[in-house]
Amino acid sequence: MSTRDAQSLRSLRNLYSIKAILEMDKKVIVCPLPYHAHVNHTPSFSVYSNREGYEKFLCHGCGTEGDVIDLIGFMVLGRDYNPSSPKDVGRAIEMLIKGYKLSPPELSRPKPRGLSYELWKAFPLGDQVISYGGNRGLTAETLQAFGVGQADKSNLYDLLKGAGLDPAWLSSQVFMTMPTFHHGKLIGIKLRNIKSSGKRNRFFQFPGSSPGLFGMGNIYNTSEPIVIVKGEISTMNLWQRGLIHTAAPNCGEAMVDSAWGIWTSWSKKVIVIGDNDPEQIKNQLSKAYLKRCETFRADLRFPPEKYHDVDDWLLGDPGAIDEIQGWLL
Ligand SMILES: [Zn+2]
Repeated sequence: MSTRDAQSLRSLRNLYSIKAILEMDKKVIVCPLPYHAHVNHTPSFSVYSNREGYEKFLCHGCGTEGDVIDLIGFMVLGRDYNPSSPKDVGRAIEMLIKGYKLSPPELSRPKPRGLSYELWKAFPLGDQVISYGGNRGLTAETLQAFGVGQADKSNLYDLLKGAGLDPAWLSSQVFMTMPTFHHGKLIGIKLRNIKSSGKRNRFFQFPGSSPGLFGMGNIYNTSEPIVIVKGEISTMNLWQRGLIHTAAPNCGEAMVDSAWGIWTSWSKKVIVIGDNDPEQIKNQLSKAYLKRCETFRADLRFPPEKYHDVDDWLLGDPGAIDEIQGWLL
């Protein structure tokens, strides 16, 4: 099949519905993709109609996105599926035409097993994480202060035996571990794959993790202004630059526990800083942002258009921190 054939076959996507194939009756479901590393209880997969009028999917967990054809491709070929390969697209279309049906994993909420407090200490800070953090503007002292560590084959492999991850993949990666604590309890550990440059498989939660607020101790019941950002790296970046009352949900933008709102209720000013995502994603996220603002009684702000997120802004503009300080007055 030539590239042009693949292009014209792509128009078949208008005839099929991702939602129908997945029998989706909810807005966000547990990701059905085979390589999505999950504890099976965090819905992260959503479907939207794009401007050209066909459906696209996006998973905030594993970062996979595409149209209905790509969905089948990723389901069948896994991570090896290449959306720009006419051969792969052709195979996916064949499956689609045959009437491929999928059942997404059931949304189950197993009682969180919880994590032993000591677990985060299994991942001491290592050179690769220090260097990765350095490129993102973070000092080793900051990483240390937040209990950040390095997980690789040497200390992760045995701990994750039986967690359903591909052992060959796991042992070839290096992760930055970012623990979330509430009141001195270890709530979760997020692992950021520092070898992955693409969107896929960048993050996963250590099995047994629960949703929590990274930096919770820094915002809890303070009367000072508070900043809520999207992720751990931004939290640490702002903290290091003097905005110590900063925190971020550890579980992606879709999840915010309304019970957390009480923690910020003493503060005289709370702001949520969003990302400048492409418009479709931004629209998709706007409800999540609104929920955050409602939960924390916060105002929503965005970095200047030319920066994607707070981290880019802080690295690219020495005046960023003053501007954020200004929002808090
Ligand atoms: Zn996924």
